[in-house]
Amino acid sequence: MNFDLTEEQDQLRDAVRALGRRYGHDYFVRKAKAGEHTTELWHEAGRLGYLGVNIPTEYGGGGGGITELALVCEELAAAGCPLLLLVVSPAIAATVITKHGTEEQRKRHLPGLADGSQKIVFAITEPDAGSNFHRLGTVARRDGDDWLLSGRKVYISGVDEADHVLVVARTEDSSTGKLKPALFIVPTDAPGLEKSKLDMEILSPENQFLLYLDDVRLPADALVGESLDAGLPALFAGLNPERITVAAMGAGTGRYAIEKASDYTATRKVWGGRSIGSHQGVAHPLAHAAVQVELARLMIQKAAALYDAGRDLEAGVSGNMAKYAAGEAAALAVDTAVQALGGAGMTTEYGVATLLGAVRAGRIAPVSREMILNFVAQHVLGQDKSY
Ligand SMILES: Cc1cc2nc3c(=O)[nH]c(=O)nc-3n(C[C@H](O)[C@H](O)[C@H](O)COP(=O)(O)OP(=O)(O)OC[C@H]3O[C@@H](n4cnc5c(N)ncnc54)[C@H](O)[C@@H]3O)c2cc1C
Repeated sequence: MNFDLTEEQDQLRDAVRALGRRYGHDYFVRKAKAGEHTTELWHEAGRLGYLGVNIPTEYGGGGGGITELALVCEELAAAGCPLLLLVVSPAIAATVITKHGTEEQRKRHLPGLADGSQKIVFAITEPDAGSNFHRLGTVARRDGDDWLLSGRKVYISGVDEADHVLVVARTEDSSTGKLKPALFIVPTDAPGLEKSKLDMEILSPENQFLLYLDDVRLPADALVGESLDAGLPALFAGLNPERITVAAMGAGTGRYAIEKASDYTATRKVWGGRSIGSHQGVAHPLAHAAVQVELARLMIQKAAALYDAGRDLEAGVSGNMAKYAAGEAAALAVDTAVQALGGAGMTTEYGVATLLGAVRAGRIAPVSREMILNFVAQHVLGQDKSY
């Protein structure tokens, strides 16, 4: 058993940390409040090769795995820049296209995803299906060689800054009634695709959208893969990387909050010469949160290692557990940090309460804590399904 990073991974971690700290949480908040995107950081990360660490070298990437991408997500978040689009564009879209796209799709999209000049976001959630993707109502119909897509998607992140959206639809002729999903790479400016920005209580430079697809006409090669049979494996290919990288983002956010709070409580004195951190009522909750974050990091490391070793089923269990643990740890860490900072915790200046909405959402998306507990109850504990 080895918990050490390789030399290259260590260098990557240090370099991403340095980049993240150069931008910092003030930059992230400033962009969010101005209604702008973190374009400079995204492009610089792309130029330095950090967005493509998991993309094969022949398509301009770094040739690494989800372990490397998780490091990127964690370190940027630990610097106060939790970029949600890392989870959709390099983690989901690049993995799906690498593993299940056609050669033409790989050549068309992967180099741009690797250098950050292209973003592909991901649309599965629907207003009437929610956690139950078996109920997806977005339908793909054949029209000659073309496809026509109709339906609605909700909470889709980053549509305003992406070139394409990877849409999960069901094919109309599934006579069994079972989900036969198909994935389509849809240009965000395709006629018939309308987006409407949702007002979310999350301070973030990345936005969520309601998407309306009204007979969006797509050429045959918009379908991911060579045939409809690629749909289900392609959909599942994106899930483990999504869970592992979003967990890494949560762990990084937790580290950021605990570091901020510890720096403050070690020097803040309101009772004579002692720091408030010397009071166990202040220090223990922070120490407890630090333990939870570190436990989550271990599970992330395990899940990423299993995934990169091609052990998908085990990675599915560990990835779900990592996502659950990191989601809870991040929410605990940020809340505890706010409390430890007192009034300062609620100011914009100290940069902790600014993350409350994001970490709360991390317990809901991309898969809720309840759905993970359902998964663990069924697949690990052997319990019957209630739904
Ligand atoms: C900030 C943010 C960004 C997002 N980005 C994207 C994106 O880019 N692309 C995308 O496709 N989606 C995105 N989502 C959607 C997200 O994945 C969904 O919100 C999530 O999967 C839950 O679905 P829902 O909101 O419809 O909740 P529902 O399915 O309506 O569930 C509501 C509540 O009931 C619980 N529940 C439901 N069924 C069960 C059950 N069987 N057992 C126990 N509890 C249950 C859920 O856990 C939840 O707490 C995003 C959401 C947010 C908040």
